[in-house]
Amino acid sequence: MKPASIAAQGLGWVDDQTRAVVPPIHTSTTFLRDPDNQYRSGRIYARDHNPTFDQAEAVLTALEGGHASLLFASGMAAATAVFQALAPGDRVLAPKVMYWSLRNWLANFATQWGLRVQFIDMSNPDHVRSAVQSDKIDLVWIETPANPLWTITDIAATSEIAHASGAIVAVDSTVATPVLTRPFELGADIVMHSATKYLNGHSDVIAGTLTAREDTPLWQRIRSIRAQIGGVLGPFEAWLLTRGMRTLFPRVRAACASAQSIAERLAQHPLIDEVLYPGLQSFPGHVLAAQQMHGGFGGMLSIRVRGSKNGSLKGEEAAIATAAKVQLWKRATSLGGVESLIEHRASVEGAGTPVPGDLLRLSVGLEETDDLVADLEQALAQAHS
Ligand code: PLP
Repeated sequence: MKPASIAAQGLGWVDDQTRAVVPPIHTSTTFLRDPDNQYRSGRIYARDHNPTFDQAEAVLTALEGGHASLLFASGMAAATAVFQALAPGDRVLAPKVMYWSLRNWLANFATQWGLRVQFIDMSNPDHVRSAVQSDKIDLVWIETPANPLWTITDIAATSEIAHASGAIVAVDSTVATPVLTRPFELGADIVMHSATKYLNGHSDVIAGTLTAREDTPLWQRIRSIRAQIGGVLGPFEAWLLTRGMRTLFPRVRAACASAQSIAERLAQHPLIDEVLYPGLQSFPGHVLAAQQMHGGFGGMLSIRVRGSKNGSLKGEEAAIATAAKVQLWKRATSLGGVESLIEHRASVEGAGTPVPGDLLRLSVGLEETDDLVADLEQALAQAHS
């Protein structure tokens, strides 16, 4: 079966008791022990054993082509579980351009807790090579396309270099989704998603996932971290996530087609300095993205808004003013939902961000492309009026 069919039918699971094609939500926090003191059902307590997790985890494992998946209470809970499974003193390579909150956590918390974290430009595998040659690295964290400049990292080349030096490779594949990229086929060991985004897809669930290519001691540590720390999803959210994943493929494909068209149309706009989108031939990582992403380049792009010619309106002011004037796009953080979102990222990320002040991040939803372009055009014109 093709992945799109697996997702649409949620692996075809039905409820054994009722034959319902939508398996039920299990709210019970605890499970009966057998009279002889055994737990033959394999379930003891719902912090880790909620049956409502099973379908979402199984569907994701099938979509990624991995060994097993775990749901977490958020993308951050999932990502940080990977780093918590390392030992104090372990060394991590992470990209300079990556999801800002995770970068902050790595720089400020993980380092205090004993991890040694180095941020490098991962768009060039040579930088990874020289980092692993000068230090013993235990884990390489990749995000591709990376928020919000959409920098592309070569998963296959980076994994080869990392593995040759004994390091594990984890990929934040939130923006690529399993529809466009399957990191295990390129050599990655762990795939992470903020399921809050495309996997759920409706901006109504906070969730995260990890999938392992194979069962390893690290994966077992991650499992027990989830069980012990308890950063798990509630049963209703897990059920909603499964429902969301059933429409993952058509949603992502539509968002990709629309984002590609918006990027191409805005690339020539007189009030825009640059459009950052992996699907544009002018984009530095385009050739690599075309090899690594299949069926589209994602639903995320960024635009850099031009200031006025006489300098009275700076690019950053023009960007903020453009976001203020949109009517259809929603001014909100996050991405991957059915409604299109626009955000001035530099304001969110604050001091030390690699994001230019004139940049607006766009998450393309499922509205009519013409409406989205028209709304941006009128907002740009008003910002400059
Ligand atoms: N990774 C990426 C690429 C993200 O965009 C986000 C959230 O925006 C996260 C991780 C964190 O996920 P969550 O908000 O579900 O904790």
